[in-house]
Amino acid sequence: MKDKNYKLDIIAPDRILYKGMVRSFSAPGEIGAFQILYNHAPLLTSLVPGEMKFTDDQGNTVYYATSGGFVEVRDNRVLALVDTAEKADEIDVGRAKKSRDRAIERIKTRKTDLDIERAGRSLERANNRLKVAQRAHESVSVS
Ligand code: ATP
Repeated sequence: MKDKNYKLDIIAPDRILYKGMVRSFSAPGEIGAFQILYNHAPLLTSLVPGEMKFTDDQGNTVYYATSGGFVEVRDNRVLALVDTAEKADEIDVGRAKKSRDRAIERIKTRKTDLDIERAGRSLERANNRLKVAQRAHESVSVS
């Protein structure tokens, strides 16, 4: 239903990931995953690492791994400002595995100068990318 679509912008510091009409958008909010449909109440929330997705006005669902950011919802416009986001099929699985292994190694060896929280965040980003990469062949048309 065309009249139930709204405008979505997904923007990273280095690129515009998406600008277009969608019927649904979901993201990993600080206090849990949420979904935005037409006429959603105003909202401002931060994001944590996780899966983000939208279904466009043609019914195509696109999946992303995001590492965090902010989402603003107002007057049937959604603005997602993300630290990083990669589409499931553009995730470099080898790179994510290396990143994951580096983080695990750091945590295991626990050198005295280790920033444990930073290593933990890196591990979380890598695991999230590996999980979302499995969606690469799942983007389906639901119209
Ligand atoms: P790495 O240790 O591999 O650099 P990272 O978690 O430290 O991973 P980020 O700082 O989150 O990397 O991202 C830096 C840039 O690299 C961003 O533009 C992000 O989209 C991109 N990026 C990071 N990992 C991947 C990946 N596995 N596949 C594709 N792009 C990636």
